[in-house]
Amino acid sequence: MIDFLTYAPIQELKDEMLEKHQVKLLVKREDLIHSHIKGNKWYKLKYNIAQAKIEGLNCLLTFGGAFSNHIYATASAGKLCGLETIGIIRGEPHLPLNPILAHAQACGMTLSYLDRATYRQKSESEVIQQLRAQFGDFYLIPEGGTNTLAIKGTKEIVENIEEKYDYLCCACGTGGTLAGLIVGAPEKVQKIGFSVLKGDFLEKEIEKRLHQAYEQGIITQNSYLNWHINHNYHFGGYAKTHLELNNFIVNFSKKFDIPIEPIYTGKLFYGIFDLIKQGYFHAPSTILVIHSGGVY
Ligand SMILES: *Cc1c(COP(=O)(O)O)cnc(C)c1O
Repeated sequence: MIDFLTYAPIQELKDEMLEKHQVKLLVKREDLIHSHIKGNKWYKLKYNIAQAKIEGLNCLLTFGGAFSNHIYATASAGKLCGLETIGIIRGEPHLPLNPILAHAQACGMTLSYLDRATYRQKSESEVIQQLRAQFGDFYLIPEGGTNTLAIKGTKEIVENIEEKYDYLCCACGTGGTLAGLIVGAPEKVQKIGFSVLKGDFLEKEIEKRLHQAYEQGIITQNSYLNWHINHNYHFGGYAKTHLELNNFIVNFSKKFDIPIEPIYTGKLFYGIFDLIKQGYFHAPSTILVIHSGGVY
């Protein structure tokens, strides 16, 4: 896996507004670790791929929407690691394929479509049995790539960081990345996940997942403090956007020369900047932000 950066660089953002509020803003550029398997997705996949190999399975099957970064990353990782991949896509096929699915197919992923009603039941054993009847044996990775082995991977995002920091921020979809940061970062660091979805189920999901990981011996602690999810910057829900958000993204990308996008990292940085302006973070303090990728 020579294409991977073994350690994502940490970049400091310089800005008058940050200086005024005495905030040091550091960005861990996980978006740079690989040209196709960026950001958090590789961390979620790596121990699942290892487990598939341990179980002697040479095929990964997973789920996602037509614009899923997880589908894109799984197809890329499968190709890189010599595993077959099957992507079960929500809804009807649309031709020509969009760039995400075209890339997945070019990596060798078999694309198969599930109607929305069946897709909602994709964790039910009848649906999975049907998929096994159709495709044979496979290693199943859930939608978004989040399971307990994903946490074993995402906690590595914050291991071996020399810089000291008071706050740790990331974007949250399924919460698998935040769960890893909660486990991996020092206890006294305040961890904040910025939800890109509407709804308040994430806290319970993360607690459940951490508990499972503890039961399975993947992590050593049963409960964690000093973390929460901010629900104020989803802009109406997943993939919903807004003129103000789009303007922020254009200005941010130009000013700092760091690409961000409207689904995850745009909402994350918008939220952080807004909270800094409100004086939310104590002064002086250091915030470490995980740039989870998402720009292709
Ligand atoms: C998938 C993704 C996330 C969400 O990660 P979760 O572990 O599901 O919370 C965040 N940022 C980017 C760029 C992503 O592609």
